[in-house]
Amino acid sequence: IPAPAAARQQAASLATLSPRRGGEIRISHVSKSYGTLKVLDDVSLALRPGSVTAIIGQSGSGKSTLLRSINHLERVDEGFIAIDGELIGYRQEGETLYELKEKDILKRRVDVGMVFQNFNLFPHLTAIENIVEAPVAVRGLSREQALAEARELLARVGLADKAGAYPRQLSGGQQQRVAIARALALKPKVLLFDEPTSALDPELVGEVLDVIKELARSGTTLVIVTHEIGFAREVADQVVFMEAGRILETGAPAKVLGEPDHPRTREFLAKVL
Ligand code: ADP
Ligand code: MG
Repeated sequence: IPAPAAARQQAASLATLSPRRGGEIRISHVSKSYGTLKVLDDVSLALRPGSVTAIIGQSGSGKSTLLRSINHLERVDEGFIAIDGELIGYRQEGETLYELKEKDILKRRVDVGMVFQNFNLFPHLTAIENIVEAPVAVRGLSREQALAEARELLARVGLADKAGAYPRQLSGGQQQRVAIARALALKPKVLLFDEPTSALDPELVGEVLDVIKELARSGTTLVIVTHEIGFAREVADQVVFMEAGRILETGAPAKVLGEPDHPRTREFLAKVL
């Protein structure tokens, strides 16, 4: 018996909006150097499915490199990263090297969405065209399906009326919300945010953080590099403080941000708060 149209539509919309299961990230003894500069130094970190992790630390401490390694946009020199037990990229252990084929890396990467500081929208495409491109190319959706999902995603980030706008016609906060909708269109298990509000005028920061807050409740695993300490305190399950390629401290926000163990964490917080 076919479901009534309304019920079918609701099921379709829930499928669009609910995240896929999983999203556990394991980072194990990861190191990486650029020439003689060690940018990641024996970094290990576990992230539970659906958890929110905020990464803080000074400029140059390796935050972006760590984030990009999770997506295998950076190749690490040692250690490994796995999502739901599946290796990302490759794993070097002593003399032994396990490496994924390029096409498998691309397949895995679909599980990990990324949102950048500078939005990185295609300037010649409208908001909705920016969103539909990847699901058609990568998930093999029909254009109609992709457009329907993109409209829902635009509504979800509060931009239902901006489908036809080009990036230059949108504020920075609106562009970043389109970028978030675009990342969500691939139904990632994990979303990585690299200073998503750092390029925004102060009055536009809140609207982007509000969207991320809503995502935090949705079950997608989030990793957010941010200088918004208040936001981290409110939204994160764990806070990671990095310095010179190492994790100096990690724990609950109340602990790391409120009564950190490490004097360097205290110094950093005194500077940014
Ligand atoms: P953060 O995001 O915390 O500011 P990054 O991960 O961007 O830090 O950079 C960490 C260090 O690695 C910095 O000293 C930076 O200059 C250096 N670095 C980053 N990318 C490259 C690269 N492609 N080549 C050489 N050095 C790099
Ligand atoms: Mg950075």
